Amino acid sequence: MDREQFRAAAHAAIDDIINHFDSLPERRVLPTIEPGYLRPQIPENPPIEPQPWSEIQADIESKIQPGLTHWQSPNFMAFFPASVTYPSILGEMYSAAFTAPAFNWICSPACTELESIVMDWVAKALGLPKCFLSTSENRGGGVIQGTASESVATMLIAARERRARELTFAEGVKDNGSAEYEDHMCAHRAKLVALSSDQAHSSVAKAALVAGTRFRSIPTSLEDNVELTAKSLRATLTKVEEEQGLVPFFINFTMGTTNSCAVDRFAELKAVLNERESWRRIWVHIDAAYAGAALVEDEYQHIAQNFAEGVDSFNMNMHKWLLVNFDASCLFVRNRTDLTNALDITPAYLRNPYSETGTVVDYRNWQISLGRRFRSLKIWFVMRSYGLNGMKAHIRKGIKLGNLFAEKVQSRPELFEIVTKPAFALTVLRVRSSAASSAFTSNGTNGDNGTSEVAKHGVAQVDEKANEITKKVYELINSRGEVFLTSSVIAGIYVIRVVGVSPQADEAHTLRAFDILVKTTEEVLRG
Ligand code: PLP
Repeated sequence: MDREQFRAAAHAAIDDIINHFDSLPERRVLPTIEPGYLRPQIPENPPIEPQPWSEIQADIESKIQPGLTHWQSPNFMAFFPASVTYPSILGEMYSAAFTAPAFNWICSPACTELESIVMDWVAKALGLPKCFLSTSENRGGGVIQGTASESVATMLIAARERRARELTFAEGVKDNGSAEYEDHMCAHRAKLVALSSDQAHSSVAKAALVAGTRFRSIPTSLEDNVELTAKSLRATLTKVEEEQGLVPFFINFTMGTTNSCAVDRFAELKAVLNERESWRRIWVHIDAAYAGAALVEDEYQHIAQNFAEGVDSFNMNMHKWLLVNFDASCLFVRNRTDLTNALDITPAYLRNPYSETGTVVDYRNWQISLGRRFRSLKIWFVMRSYGLNGMKAHIRKGIKLGNLFAEKVQSRPELFEIVTKPAFALTVLRVRSSAASSAFTSNGTNGDNGTSEVAKHGVAQVDEKANEITKKVYELINSRGEVFLTSSVIAGIYVIRVVGVSPQADEAHTLRAFDILVKTTEEVLRG
């Protein structure tokens, strides 16, 4: 493709992309194809001769569109969102044009420098404590990772190395590259255990698996809205340390769990960690992958004040709820030396005069991979195009839609129960136990306006019938593809999660989703 062909193709592609966004509200969210739909439509071997762009582009509508799940649809209310906006797409275009796997500063200074600056912007926008700024005295700073999973795994490795090194130094063994030092480090690594609540994302357990350490999850209960509490943390720490002889070295607290957007009780948890010297040494990471976006809004910034002390690192994904497309996981660390001590391995071919001076950042030492993309451009473009006020307005709109949905659910107590406290635009519900177990009357209601399980017991109780009906409702809704929801199981209770905060979503989409939920539930109850 030459420059003129590229110009024409790019114009055609942009037109196509704009039309795609325009068409989203009318398209089914979920595709109707069956597994393996694509292989028969694509030649078995790559073409021998060049093909024109017009031919390639035509395959997008005929072959790719039918197999897309439309995460950008305003009717996508599953998982957590993965937003994309026009300025973010422009950032991706320039990033591709300037392709440079800028692992060292000299590999493309603008990539590194813009990333440091933009991460400071993000930290300020979220109201994070100053210790996470690249200009802080404690040598903090931010780095863009691909995903929250990568962020957590990177922090867990840094924590593992910090703790193993402390224990090795305490034995008087110096880091001189000797086999003795290696042996001591390995012996200590083998005793380490990472922790998180049983509601933390699976990426924490996976990070421990990747890092080769033990992992324990700490129980939560519906009575505490599945938030991690001091009592539970203390009991687990005491058990692993005193009964199992292990060394807790890393703990993940969550702001906005995947199941229900619960927020762990940071203040009381940090107080527990202050109770023992060995607990004070634990690396504390805050995973705010989705809900962290809400920190741009003034109303939520008080939460970030909990991270001023006793927190080593924090991550949030702009690619979930903050208008930047995948991938843009913002990771902030209090002391970048903890990170570079763990991950800096510098062979001769990576040396250069700038790195040797120690005055530049080489982001390869802040991450697992070597090469990296120019991701700060898209964040920069989005933050400038929206401004802080535009970003706040986006979050406020999402919260408003979430509240509206929760209120609608609460307005039908004969049909539904809210299982956990609605938070950050997420509603977690199930079909009400008594509705699920009693027959429908001819007027379409179950004729039961009695007290709900939640009102009776304070929290929803496990109920097999309710589980079965809720699952049926969920499956029927998704099979029709008009909206896409997610299910989960919390404390044995089968739930439906609804979160619709796409930039294109408005009240009409929220009300339509609720209407589909009600009608489908009534249909299932009627049998
Ligand atoms: N942490 C939380 C709280 C999440 O909800 C998720 C995904 O939804 C993740 C981590 C993993 O995110 P990623 O896909 O960026 O690894």
